[in-house]
Amino acid sequence: HHDDPGRDGCHRRATTSRSASGRDRSAASIGAVTATSSTEPTAPLSVCVYCSSSDDVSHDLRALAEAVGTGLARRGWAMVYGGGAVGLMGVTARAALAGGARVTGVIPDKLVDREVALHDISELIRTRTMRERKQLMDDRSDAFLILPGGIGTLEELIEMMSLRQLGYHDRPIVVLDADGFWAPLRRLLQAMDDRRMLHQPMHRLWTYAHDVDAALDALGNGTIRRSR
Ligand code: AMP
Repeated sequence: HHDDPGRDGCHRRATTSRSASGRDRSAASIGAVTATSSTEPTAPLSVCVYCSSSDDVSHDLRALAEAVGTGLARRGWAMVYGGGAVGLMGVTARAALAGGARVTGVIPDKLVDREVALHDISELIRTRTMRERKQLMDDRSDAFLILPGGIGTLEELIEMMSLRQLGYHDRPIVVLDADGFWAPLRRLLQAMDDRRMLHQPMHRLWTYAHDVDAALDALGNGTIRRSR
């Protein structure tokens, strides 16, 4: 039921748009790896992390975010995120930096004060608007990792899902659902899939992971497939 011609059309566009947006940077990354180590199986990824900007979240969520930052760094990957020092954003970025990862933050001028741009970040890009911020984060990322978060996180996740189902990109989207936080959204998306409202079957569009390692594996695997 999911393999009608319209959906094939979407899939072809996905392949085309990938080479327009993502091919350059992944080719460059692969080149860098080959130069340093011929045994390294995957190119270094630039992973976009979306997560809560709230400082009032639980200790467990902070620990999860910290493990994500540490895990990204351990794999030699880079992180792209909203640039703030607050909430899970700050926790993840600080852990990634502490582990030696390159961290790029993209933050609109208006939010520099509220989210307190992280100090020792590798690169901080200031934008005029939220839309420019989202576009730049998109441009610089090979894959998307979504941790628990609020409306901003939800909006960014849904936008990436929407663009992917329409074939504007085919980079991995991994939803880290360690504690069932995303269960209500998963039910809603399942209802859409059951009623044939999605443009492609869900399993082709995004992945859920129950722990940090599984999430990072899914990001890496998705991108290996992409680079071939
Ligand atoms: P939240 O999940 O609401 O805590 O937001 C997480 C991050 O998303 C924060 O850095 C917000 O500034 C950012 N954010 C919220 N809304 C938007 C938006 N419309 N476009 C881009 N970033 C946003």
